[in-house]
Amino acid sequence: MQEKGRLIVISGPSGAGKSTVVFKAIRDRQDFCFSTSVTTRAPRPGEVDGREYFFIDRERYDQMVLQDELLEHAEYVSNGYGTPRFFVEQKLSEGMNVVLDIEIQGARQVREKMPEAVLVFVIPPSMEELRRRLVGRGTDSPEAIEGRLLRAREEYAEADFYDYLIVNDDADEAAADFSAIVRAEHLRAQDRLYLLK
Ligand code: 5GP
Repeated sequence: MQEKGRLIVISGPSGAGKSTVVFKAIRDRQDFCFSTSVTTRAPRPGEVDGREYFFIDRERYDQMVLQDELLEHAEYVSNGYGTPRFFVEQKLSEGMNVVLDIEIQGARQVREKMPEAVLVFVIPPSMEELRRRLVGRGTDSPEAIEGRLLRAREEYAEADFYDYLIVNDDADEAAADFSAIVRAEHLRAQDRLYLLK
């Protein structure tokens, strides 16, 4: 019997290094894929449509929301973000593990719609370190950085419904933590009862 695919949600402040951690953990695995979100925000330098995001306008975004094409969606620092439902459902049904890199409002929606999803929150070692990383990235204006720091504090205050918390001080160690979580989740007895028959 095929092991079930898992929906894994990863959240945390922009600049926490979420995607680096997950990429490190799953780069050699064929049984994982990332969901590519839609967003109304403009591409950053180097971002490619269909790779980091599908970059869409507000009109198309509103249409996707209305037609229930998004598994979850949220506003984040004045832009809309959402997870196309079709891709996720298709991959899960094929037995793939699907990773969603989404913010906390979206994670809450996933928790309600799919209680079996695994929710992981990733934080940097401190707010000071987060500020340093955002400034170092050089992609956001000072106002946008303040907006992201403010939003990070708000998210921390609400993040108590996640299953796991990873502190990304060292990316290799954080990736090992992520792998450990996934490994343990796949060993859940309730999902492996067929082995006892
Ligand atoms: P950024 O603009 O830095 O790429 O992303 C900003 C925030 O939006 C991040 O916290 C990221 O996890 C979140 N995000 C990206 N895609 C989605 C999505 O499809 N849904 C939700 N709810 N949040 C998303």
